[in-house]
Amino acid sequence: MSSHFGKTCSPGIAIGPAVVYISHQIKVEKTESNNKDQEVLDLKMAFESAEIDINQLIEKQKSGPSREILQAHLMMLQDPEWMDQTLSLIHQGMTAAYSLQESSRVFKSMLENLDDEYLKARAHDITDLSQRVLGHLLGLKQSGNLLSKPSILVAHDLLPSEFLSLDRKNILGMILENASNTSHTAILAKTFEIPCVVGLQNALGLIKDNDLVLMDALKAQVLINPDQQVQDQALRDLEKQKAESKNLESFIHQTSTSLDQVNFEVASNLSCIDDMKLALSKGTEGCGLFRSEFLLLDQKFMPTESEQFEIYKTLVSSLSPHKAVIRIFDIGGDKQLSYLNLPKEENPFLGLRGLRLLLHQPDVLLKPQLRALLRAAQFGRLAIMAPMVTTLDEVFQFKKALKDCEQELLNEGLWKSGTQYETGIMVEVPAIALVLKDIAPHLDFISVGTNDLIQYLCATDRMNSTVSHLHDAYHPAVLRFLNLISTELKNTKVWMGLCGELAAQNDYVPLLMALGFKELSVSPGSLLKTRAQVCKTSVKDSLMLLQHALKAQSSSELKQLLQA
Ligand code: PEP
Ligand code: MG
Repeated sequence: MSSHFGKTCSPGIAIGPAVVYISHQIKVEKTESNNKDQEVLDLKMAFESAEIDINQLIEKQKSGPSREILQAHLMMLQDPEWMDQTLSLIHQGMTAAYSLQESSRVFKSMLENLDDEYLKARAHDITDLSQRVLGHLLGLKQSGNLLSKPSILVAHDLLPSEFLSLDRKNILGMILENASNTSHTAILAKTFEIPCVVGLQNALGLIKDNDLVLMDALKAQVLINPDQQVQDQALRDLEKQKAESKNLESFIHQTSTSLDQVNFEVASNLSCIDDMKLALSKGTEGCGLFRSEFLLLDQKFMPTESEQFEIYKTLVSSLSPHKAVIRIFDIGGDKQLSYLNLPKEENPFLGLRGLRLLLHQPDVLLKPQLRALLRAAQFGRLAIMAPMVTTLDEVFQFKKALKDCEQELLNEGLWKSGTQYETGIMVEVPAIALVLKDIAPHLDFISVGTNDLIQYLCATDRMNSTVSHLHDAYHPAVLRFLNLISTELKNTKVWMGLCGELAAQNDYVPLLMALGFKELSVSPGSLLKTRAQVCKTSVKDSLMLLQHALKAQSSSELKQLLQA
């Protein structure tokens, strides 16, 4: 048995066999082969296996765009030209894997150089397909059929789209070498209450496929091949954990009211309709952040205005009478979309991200979404929120786009005059926080995204586990900055929410309540814990605590004060 520590991401105990996932793009070195016949045979078998995969995926998709894309993939796989080019390289003495990599590269660049936008976009499908065939040729696992039984997933890192392609019910727990606590994959793990440890150095070297892994994510501990006694204790702890979450169920039907009778809202951060169902089952008081960009991540094409409208309508009407705060697409950073063909950036978190990108391509990215949202507004209480806002001018452009879309919908008979909705922004870029007083007359609300705010305030990449000790909500500067935001908005009509991971940090919750955050929005998995904390806190006492806390000079001093 060996024991190792990473960092807690999503708490919980899990035990099961390990499945090690290598998510890097497969790259093959130039290698020659002296057995051409075998290479040809291997190639044909790999193509056939890829076809079987795709046919199985097609069977799972009843209809809609995913099925059409898969059918197109099937046709591309059967394209004789691609096969012929690959065979010709094998006949020149190369291995099947290298030949396929090269023929795919040529095929891809040929498509990329065409004028036809549709065919150009097919270049990405070639990459996807050639990776699938290469995986079969080299005997590697594919992410889609990786988890055939309940397992602990071990990976260097995982893209949100890769996570979404996995069979979630078979993920008992996740161990990531890199990823930090606030990466989007980490957030998904919390949403689905999957125990997750991040930043476990050399996890891929330590853990082999089928090793028995016991993880206690709250302690951030991972045990490899534990002895029987330890396993038995873990199973008892697992039972205890289940009992504790059962106890929290008494908060499902309670309101989030402090000990001294001040009302708050504990809402949920959601990324799909399934999350919403989970959150409703836990008694969520609305949605404080719908990460709408997740609708795009596992797709090959942009959803149409009507497809988006159906989703927003479901959200807004199902969450009624509570509010649904829907964030317009926050693409960029670690959420890239291959089909947008955006130029590669050196620093994507500081680049064309969030509202910046939407204003850069308003006709494709911004307006269809705003129209879909506005059409959904009449079905409940909608709040539209823009991400990654830096200037007052961006707020004006966002509001103008909303007004233009209202007018268009009115002309088309799709907008009922008098329909209400709220407009707000995320406070993530420090610069915008310093001019909130100027913006306040133009907004109904703000929601602080501490995951990014801390990243930008402390100049610390939220994705980089080697500097994650500096992505620290307990740094006195963070608390003082939150206080500054609250002061900027004092005596304005703007209400404040907080939807970063900090809202789920129970010892911090009293400070957030004292600072005037009316809505705390957390992953559905943290909802009841946060509500329980609100209910046992007095705002009056917290105001006193806040005065002391604002004087703390270090992260450890602040933590000690909050725990005392
Ligand atoms: C945040 O930045 O705190 C936030 C809630 O948004 P995201 O994590 O999606 O960037
Ligand atoms: Mg953010």
